[in-house]
Amino acid sequence: MSPSKSTNYLIVGGGITGCVSALLLAEQGISVTLCESSSHLGGILRDHVSSGERFFTSCQYLSVNEPWFQLLPSTIRRELAEFEHSYGSVTDFEQHCMTTRSMAMPVFATEKVRLEEFSANLDNATLSSRLSFYPEFVEKNLRSWVRRYGVEPESVSGENAAALQISRVHLANHDAAVTVLKQQPDYDASLALPFKYRHPDQSIQAALPTEGFDAFFELLENYMISRGIQVMKNKPIKLRKNGMKIQFWSRSERMDYFDNLIWACNPNPLLRGLEFPALDNVHGKSETHFYDLDLSEGSVDTCYYQIFSDQTDINRLFTYSVAGKPKLTVECFAGNRDKDQISTEVHILLRKLGHEHTINWQSSTKEKRYIFYSESDKAILSQLAAAQTINNCRILDAGWLDFGRNAKINRIMDQIDQGNETHDALSGDIRMSAAS
Ligand SMILES: Cc1cc2nc3c(=O)[nH]c(=O)nc-3n(C[C@H](O)[C@H](O)[C@H](O)COP(=O)(O)OP(=O)(O)OC[C@H]3O[C@@H](n4cnc5c(N)ncnc54)[C@H](O)[C@@H]3O)c2cc1C
Repeated sequence: MSPSKSTNYLIVGGGITGCVSALLLAEQGISVTLCESSSHLGGILRDHVSSGERFFTSCQYLSVNEPWFQLLPSTIRRELAEFEHSYGSVTDFEQHCMTTRSMAMPVFATEKVRLEEFSANLDNATLSSRLSFYPEFVEKNLRSWVRRYGVEPESVSGENAAALQISRVHLANHDAAVTVLKQQPDYDASLALPFKYRHPDQSIQAALPTEGFDAFFELLENYMISRGIQVMKNKPIKLRKNGMKIQFWSRSERMDYFDNLIWACNPNPLLRGLEFPALDNVHGKSETHFYDLDLSEGSVDTCYYQIFSDQTDINRLFTYSVAGKPKLTVECFAGNRDKDQISTEVHILLRKLGHEHTINWQSSTKEKRYIFYSESDKAILSQLAAAQTINNCRILDAGWLDFGRNAKINRIMDQIDQGNETHDALSGDIRMSAAS
């Protein structure tokens, strides 16, 4: 692969997606500038710091088995703790409580859900229509649970189920029957089996930075600079169409011309600059509580639990260590709740999941953390992704419709490779015609 010397890339957004894309391009000898609007890299992964204590803002494991992870040099890998991905869930609706340590999906009991009650087709048009595939007990409880984010399941696409960890449900004690059903695409996309059941000899490896993500991104930034990447912080990018060219601006400063753009952040300013329609921008509201766990009770396993329940406002728990200290991050549906009430519920859930640590509340934050897309948003973003080249600038699809970072990064990696192949094919043609 030998991209043209004149090829240059602008990456907008210094979160994990932008940083990894920049590294990938630099590895191939391609000129790349990364602009980040804030004073630091890291985006959503940056630590929450309270009274000098450092916390992960949510469960965000790095996936060791992904090709992009291999781009990280040993100096950075040394600062990561690698472990077996470990998760669980509590599903507690209408006094039927199921607890598992083998998956992070909703789990329903056999007596509540019968396989013959599934609908004929999985329909992703809205989250509501997607949920109607399931028998009534699952459908009505998950529908009410989604509403607690402040989101109407009728107004967002069914594909948002993945972000909420409800794209698949597990039916306890139905593993053999579900294995057969999963040969049909609709059932495969909606029913889960524990990873250990499908792959008894395998494990999923994950990694977290031992000193927190802020330290990780500092190391990553230094490494990126050493690989020739131009990293520009405090550079919020806007873009404007001007005749046959796209202009890049940061505040009142006009930037160089770039012939490739990776917009690795919120796509709204990009859509505005290119005169696409605006998105519906449905936000799910969430609040997060941060706890120290009592050190005298020993270390804590890194483990992530999803909570689906009509008994508590908590929807996620994450136990881990930063700088050798055991911590807990708790996500809840937003609301003006008393921290003592939340702490009591955390305590009950931890006991259910087999944790004995004493918890000490440290701080809380409230945010609009989840962005859900509607069917019309999906059409706009698909149109943008399909446009590919606008006014001589190649615009890569930065996975705006994907939730997980691996999906975003892999989508970008594929397009970079395809771009190089196209260029190789073109330069081959030019050489042949010059020779004849
Ligand atoms: C609560 C929660 C839990 C999640 N858990 C998981 C998980 O377990 N696994 C998973 O794969 N995914 C998870 N995700 C999704 C995941 O966070 C994202 O897919 C991914 O990590 C986001 O990284 P990013 O680099 O794409 O974006 P971000 O981290 O949002 O980074 C974007 C960066 O761009 C900058 N920026 C924004 N606008 C501009 C501009 N105009 N000019 C310049 N810079 C700009 C921002 O300051 C930011 O630094 C979770 C998301 C949430 C909200």
